Amino acid sequence: MSEPIILVIDDDPQVLAAIRRDLKARYQTEYRVLAAGSGESALETVRELKTRGDALAMLISDQRMPGMLGVDVLGRCRELYPLARRVLLTAYSDIQAAIRAINEVRLDHYLEKPWDPPEERLYPAVDDLLSAWHAEYRPEATGIRVVGHPWSPLSYAVKDLLGSNLIPYRWLEAGRDPDAQALMDSGNVKTSELPAVFFETGVVLRKPNTREITEHLGLTREAKHELYPLIIVGAGPAGLAAAVYGAAEGIRTLLLDGHGPGGQACASSRIENYLGFPAGISGGDLTRRAVAQAQRLGAEFLTPVEVTSVSIEGGYKRLILRDGREMVARAVLAATGMTYREHPAEGIGALAGAGVYYGAAVTEANSCRGRRVMIVGGGNSAGQSAVYLSRFASEVHLIVRRIDLNETMSHYLVEQIRQLPNIRIRSAMAIERVEGDGRLERVWLRSAGSDSLIAEEADALFVFIGARPHTDWLPTTVLRNEKGFILTGRDLLVLDEFPRFWKEDREPLPLETSIAGLFAAGDVRAGAMNRVASAVGEGSMAVKLVYDYLSRT
Ligand SMILES: Cc1cc2nc3c(=O)[nH]c(=O)nc-3n(C[C@H](O)[C@H](O)[C@H](O)COP(=O)(O)OP(=O)(O)OC[C@H]3O[C@@H](n4cnc5c(N)ncnc54)[C@H](O)[C@@H]3O)c2cc1C
Repeated sequence: MSEPIILVIDDDPQVLAAIRRDLKARYQTEYRVLAAGSGESALETVRELKTRGDALAMLISDQRMPGMLGVDVLGRCRELYPLARRVLLTAYSDIQAAIRAINEVRLDHYLEKPWDPPEERLYPAVDDLLSAWHAEYRPEATGIRVVGHPWSPLSYAVKDLLGSNLIPYRWLEAGRDPDAQALMDSGNVKTSELPAVFFETGVVLRKPNTREITEHLGLTREAKHELYPLIIVGAGPAGLAAAVYGAAEGIRTLLLDGHGPGGQACASSRIENYLGFPAGISGGDLTRRAVAQAQRLGAEFLTPVEVTSVSIEGGYKRLILRDGREMVARAVLAATGMTYREHPAEGIGALAGAGVYYGAAVTEANSCRGRRVMIVGGGNSAGQSAVYLSRFASEVHLIVRRIDLNETMSHYLVEQIRQLPNIRIRSAMAIERVEGDGRLERVWLRSAGSDSLIAEEADALFVFIGARPHTDWLPTTVLRNEKGFILTGRDLLVLDEFPRFWKEDREPLPLETSIAGLFAAGDVRAGAMNRVASAVGEGSMAVKLVYDYLSRT
C-alpha cells in the first residue's frame, strides 16, 4: 500500500502552494501531500482514493471558496473517510464559522492564516492530529473488492470466478457492511448496478460478465501455438500433475480449464491425507503451488477456457472451445473430474446460486457469517464443509439419509463434528422441497418412515450428493460405464462393442480410452479412487503413457 495521504484544498493558488510546501517539508517521507483547487475537485479526488483503497489521514480545507464552503467539503468527505482528521483553514473573520463547524462536521482543528512560523503554528497541531489518526486507523481494504447482495446468483458467479482462479478479494455485503455503501458512493454505483468489482487501479466494473473480469485480471486465454503434442483438459489435481510431468519431460504441454485451477480440491478447506503435509494443506494452497510449479517448468495454462467438443482427424484431435475457437493436439488427456448431482427436491433449480450451492462451501463461507445453514450429504466432502462452515455460521444442520454417519464418513470427521456445538446432525432425514422469494428462505424436511413434512428456516443450503462425471464434451465413441465414467486400458477389452471402435494393432495403454491417443485420469475415469493423491498419481502416470504413444506415431 502507498503512504497515507494529506489533502489540502484552497482556491487561492498561492496559499495552496505555500501550505503544500510547508507540509511536504516536514511530512513527505511518510505521507503523500496532495492538493485540490476547489471543493468539487477535492471530492472527486477523495472518491478516487476510496475506490483505490488508499488511506486518507487528513484534510485541510480553506473555508471561503466559490461554489462550496470548506465546512461542506469536510462534511461530505467525512462520509467516505470518517477517521480522516479535518482541519479548517480560516481567516480571523471566519473563526465563528470554524467554531460552529466543530459540532456540525466534527472538525478536529481550525488553523488561522497565516501559520508562520510553521514550527510553532502548524506542525505541533498536525503532529498531534496525525498521531491520533494513526492510533485509530485500520488499513482500508485494498486489492479487489466485490460489493453485492449475498444471495444474488450474479454475485456468486463473480466470487466463484475470482475464488476459482485464486485471486484474493474482499467481499462487502451491501446493506450489512458499513464500507460497502462508502465504496458504492465513491464509484457512483447504484444498488441496481450490483454486483460491482472495484480494482486497485480505480476501475469499477458494474454487473460484469466473465470476459470483462478476466480481461481486467489479465488471465491468459490465447494459446501460443497452433498444434500441441499434449493438451490436458481440466486443471484439477490430475491435470495439474500431468502438466508438471509433461513440461518436465520436455513435451510442449497446454493445460486448459473451464473454471479455474484446482477442481474439487479447491473446495476443500483442509486436505489432511495428502503425503508430505503433516498439518494438512488447503486445496487453494496446494493448487497455487502446483500452478506455479507447472508454469515454472514451461507448461502453458489458459483459463477460463471450456472445451465443448472434440473431433478426431487422423492422428490429430481437434478441440472446440465454448467461444468457438479451436485447438489441435496429437494427444489429449481428459482430466475433467466430476461435480455433484443436482438435488431432486422441488424448487431447488430456481434457487441455485441464490442460497443453494453445489460444493461451494469455501467461496460462500463469508456470506454465512451468523446465519443458519444446511448441508445435505453424508460423505467426507459434506463433513469437511460442515466443520469449515461451523466457523462462520451460527448453526449448521447436516442432513443425512442414513441413521449412522459412520457408514459413509471417515471416523476422524465424525468425531470432529460431534465436538462442535453449533453442528447438528439430522440423521434419517431428506429434503423434499425448498422455497424462497428470489433467495432460499425455507427447507421442507421429511423424517424416514413419516409422511409429514416440517418446514425450517435456512439461509443457505450446500449440496454434496452423488457424482456426475464431466464427459459431455467427449464423443460417444469414448466408451463409459453405466454411470458415465470413462473406461480405460484393459477394462475396455471385455466390452462387445470395443472392436468396432478400436482399430490399432495393439491393446490400449493403461489410461488410454477407446480412442487412440485420448487418455483419461482422475475422478472422470471409471474405477478412480476419488482422492487427491490418486488423481495426482494418475495424472503423472498418464504423461509416461502419452510419451509412449507419441513416440510410436
Ligand atoms: C469438498 C471436498 C473435499 C475433499 N477433500 C478431500 C480430501 O481431504 N482428501 C482427498 O484425497 N480428496 C478430497 N476430495 C476429493 C478430491 O478433491 C478429488 O478426488 C480430486 O480433486 C479429483 O481430481 P481430478 O483432477 O480428477 O478432478 P477435479 O478435481 O474434479 O478437476 C476437474 C477439472 O476439470 C475442469 N473441467 C471440467 N470440464 C471441463 C471442460 N469441458 N473444459 C475445461 N475444463 C473442464 C473443472 O473445471 C475442474 O477444474 C474432496 C473433494 C471435495 C469436493
